[in-house]
Amino acid sequence: MLAPVAALLLSVAAATPPVFTVVVDPGHGGAQEGAISPRGLRESDLTLEIARRLGARLRRMGARVILTRTGDVTVPMANRAAIANASRADLFVSIHLNSMPTVESRRVTAGVETYFLSADATDTHASAVAARENADRLAGEPEPDPDDTVGAILASLEDAASLDASSRLAYRVHERLVAALGAGDRGVKQAPFYVLAGARMPSVLVEVGFISNEAEAERLRSKAYQEKAAAALADAIATFRQETRAARN
Ligand SMILES: [Zn+2]
Repeated sequence: MLAPVAALLLSVAAATPPVFTVVVDPGHGGAQEGAISPRGLRESDLTLEIARRLGARLRRMGARVILTRTGDVTVPMANRAAIANASRADLFVSIHLNSMPTVESRRVTAGVETYFLSADATDTHASAVAARENADRLAGEPEPDPDDTVGAILASLEDAASLDASSRLAYRVHERLVAALGAGDRGVKQAPFYVLAGARMPSVLVEVGFISNEAEAERLRSKAYQEKAAAALADAIATFRQETRAARN
């Protein structure tokens, strides 16, 4: 028999779920504007809007939420995963908007793509997306040593459990976003993103839509669409967490 106080403490511990920490990373910011829409909308502004809304929703659900930036400031790419590691986050979600290079491809390409880390890209488009996002580095931020970068990616990939969880998180996020937004389903993909390479927890990079497509960019600027995206992401994260906890029990 447990002493009454010990029994009480155990029941409280069982009834109180551990704090769940999510680091939300609004892509780009400050000097790094990211991609630009045909009418001049900046990726860095829209990712912050979506991230803020996601953060608010997760907090209302009881999560501890840390944004890698809360204003239009430059955050070195290496710092983003470091913030997640230092805060012992359970999840890392990097929010981005996609872009195509040519007039014709910008006109016809829209929809959601969700990524998790791999040393090799799924296809040439995924490789181009990673190259575009990876190119965004501070003047003065040390150019990553290619060997270090590959090493960091390989170290992340060695954590098979985390990679499997990242994959499951990516599929949850992707299916919820596509359904909620009624957006094109361009698939879950893998690519070597620096921003994900250092994160020691399940992590995904979401390309919520194509800012290079005029119609999708105009949708992405609307508060209602941003809220829909944030709600879908929060719902996916909650579902992922429930499934992860159920699998452990
Ligand atoms: Zn981006």
